[in-house]
Amino acid sequence: MEIFHTAEVLSRDEIAHVQSRRLARTVKRAAKSPFYKARLAQTGVDPDSITSVDDISRLPLTTKDDLRESYPFGMLADEHRELVRLHASSGTTGSPTVVYHTDNDLRTWADLMARCMFMAGIRKDDVFQNMAGYGLFTGGLGIHYGAERLGCLTIPAGAGNTARQLKLIRDFNVTALHIIPSYALYLAGVVAEQGMDPRDLPPRIALIGAEPHSEEARRRIEEMLGLKAFNSYGLSEMNGPGVAFECEHQDGMHLWEDSYIAEILNPETLEPVAEGEVGELVMTTLTREAMPLLRYRTRDLTRFIPGECACGRTHRRIDRIAGRADDMLIIKGVNIYPMQIEQVLLAVPEVAQNYQIVLHREGFIDQLTVRVEIKEEFFVEDMRALGSIQKRIAGLLRNELLVTPRIELVEAKSLPTSDGKASRVVDMRDKQG
Ligand code: ADP
Ligand code: ZN
Repeated sequence: MEIFHTAEVLSRDEIAHVQSRRLARTVKRAAKSPFYKARLAQTGVDPDSITSVDDISRLPLTTKDDLRESYPFGMLADEHRELVRLHASSGTTGSPTVVYHTDNDLRTWADLMARCMFMAGIRKDDVFQNMAGYGLFTGGLGIHYGAERLGCLTIPAGAGNTARQLKLIRDFNVTALHIIPSYALYLAGVVAEQGMDPRDLPPRIALIGAEPHSEEARRRIEEMLGLKAFNSYGLSEMNGPGVAFECEHQDGMHLWEDSYIAEILNPETLEPVAEGEVGELVMTTLTREAMPLLRYRTRDLTRFIPGECACGRTHRRIDRIAGRADDMLIIKGVNIYPMQIEQVLLAVPEVAQNYQIVLHREGFIDQLTVRVEIKEEFFVEDMRALGSIQKRIAGLLRNELLVTPRIELVEAKSLPTSDGKASRVVDMRDKQG
């Protein structure tokens, strides 16, 4: 196995040792920020008493609201003049949060990113197209600097303008790309519609991430674009992309434990879950200068995959993100995640690449309607055929969700699309009073 950095194969003891050393340094550094200075004092933690990774549970948790409340500079642990860049989260679940970087921070991030891309099989000779939005969003510059660090010819295409994306891919023989999965599904639909053979498209590797997506979505992206798609996980609070990434086995994402301490906690009790169980991912930065974060609650739900990976890397793997805690829908007393719906829909051959989940209220009862795009060749058929597709989808969803949603079949390309993160859930309940 080829690796980018020797840190990828440290023994578990060595990882624990690195974590302990870096945690001690991080806590001291964090204590320089107004926020952590106060928080650590409040919780009675003397920064000098944190010397080992086993001390992690003594540290206070940090939430997204803490970041919002200390906006703009409350979490800064370095001199203002040492800062060279800031990024912000996308604001998917409320007002965005800001993260600062020193020059070293950017270098460490680019190294981690390059490590991920190398692991997915990207090399210096690849031509890399970044199809994510540039700007405050970390999926732009974050991925970009990783690709340059690897030495790829890097095309900062940005998001959207599908015709231009395809032209760049062909003209410059792009062999690897980064794309948000919902946009990749859309692009795949365009490729199919134009009658292109995916085998004629040069890319062999896609990095897909930044939003939850199902295994079925990955499968479609791989088949319809004729490439291998690797799951990429990150969040701006932990730099952005480059936190956890799939290796060639595509069986969970290695989380770089020399740069982050990861815990999986029960979101209610805030105690660690049992080995291999799903909970909230909580992370501590180990290498960040400008803005260290201690035990940051990501709200993302996942689990550690037990056992070792066949690739030989020693860093533990997290499972595909099941969704954000905020994404959970409660319908007729049943908990539902949008990804469960996606997984069912995209396994149905007649279903095209897009869908929408609508919540509304009838009397006192919440209702779930799923709008599903149907591929053109099936949509022209007679009412009876459509009726039977509708019934089949309703049955499959009932088996998965244990409630029966209403299914509305709509024409392909009639639902809203986005070249950034998709918003698939429309909640009409508040508007109905
Ligand atoms: P925001 O939280 O406002 O969307 P970010 O742009 O920082 O801001 O996005 C980070 C979030 O995106 C993560 O916390 C997670 O919910 C989601 N995310 C990122 N990568 C993935 C992935 N590979 N799978 C599922 N969700 C992901
Ligand atoms: Zn592996």
